Amino acid sequence: MNRTIGFTTTIPVEVIFAAGCTPCDLNNIFVTDPDPMRYVERAERDGFPKGMCNWVKGIYGVVMEKAVNAVITVMEGDCSNTQALAEILRYRGIRTIPFSYPYDRDKKVLAREIEKLMTELAVGEETLALVEKEIGKVRSSLALIDRMTWKERKVTGAENHLWLVRASDMLGDYREYHRMAEEFLAEVEARQGIEGVNIGYIGVPPILLDIYEFIGDAGGHVVYNETQRQFSLPFAADNIVDRYTSYTYPYGVFARLADIREEIGRRDIKGIIHYVQAFCFRAIEDVILRETIGVPILTVEGDLPRTLDTRTKLRIEAFIEMLQQK
Ligand code: SF4
Repeated sequence: MNRTIGFTTTIPVEVIFAAGCTPCDLNNIFVTDPDPMRYVERAERDGFPKGMCNWVKGIYGVVMEKAVNAVITVMEGDCSNTQALAEILRYRGIRTIPFSYPYDRDKKVLAREIEKLMTELAVGEETLALVEKEIGKVRSSLALIDRMTWKERKVTGAENHLWLVRASDMLGDYREYHRMAEEFLAEVEARQGIEGVNIGYIGVPPILLDIYEFIGDAGGHVVYNETQRQFSLPFAADNIVDRYTSYTYPYGVFARLADIREEIGRRDIKGIIHYVQAFCFRAIEDVILRETIGVPILTVEGDLPRTLDTRTKLRIEAFIEMLQQK
């Protein structure tokens, strides 16, 4: 029977596909819903505090309202709230499967975590190897979309964001996602190059609904989406363990910093927009990033799934103007 397996952040999705299940990134369901506020409201009705990250409330609301058979909760390497979220989900009768990324990037520990997940979902090594090989083709197409953003400048920052952020579950069907990506690549070929000052976007994906469109309108071209690109796992790796240890997001700010610096140079990025989510512990990382990144940085905070407020728009406009004048 095909089961839908939700998850709270990117996990080795190959294992879910190899189990014959449908993966579902709960974040994406939340933020792409025509009315994402209803999930936040559902969580608050159930007692979640106002002063708490709305991504967490959104995930909870989605699980309560959609039919998911189990939720993989990433206990280490993502969010400080996940343990409590996993507990309330279990309390509500949802099957939860814990998964952890080892903070020290220990390959043996990660291999054990992946094995545990395989056992939980009854996946054999041979089936996994076949799926991995096929998914490699999707990852190559996504890497090309990323390249078409910064090198050929034919893909907008918003499109780049969408294609890479959805790599976490490939919309539940990696073959179809591959077909869609190839079709998109053929479509953008004929486009003119996008103008605008090169902007890098770092931090968790935005809850703000129009940030990319606004940056584009203000004269910027987002050529790098840090976390979303990481979700697409664009690494030349021999096996699943190597691939998910090359992935920087779960392993702290210093692992991320090396990738950010490299991409700033490679993509000729003039300024960075660092997105932080209200009430997220990751805002502390902003201190380190500001002092080490080496290009101008604007920190933008979002709270609810809404469009940008006037003050944030003015700040982004002034930032891009300053970069243009430099
Ligand atoms: S934005 Fe921060 S607090 Fe919110 S879910 Fe993500 S990691 Fe957790």
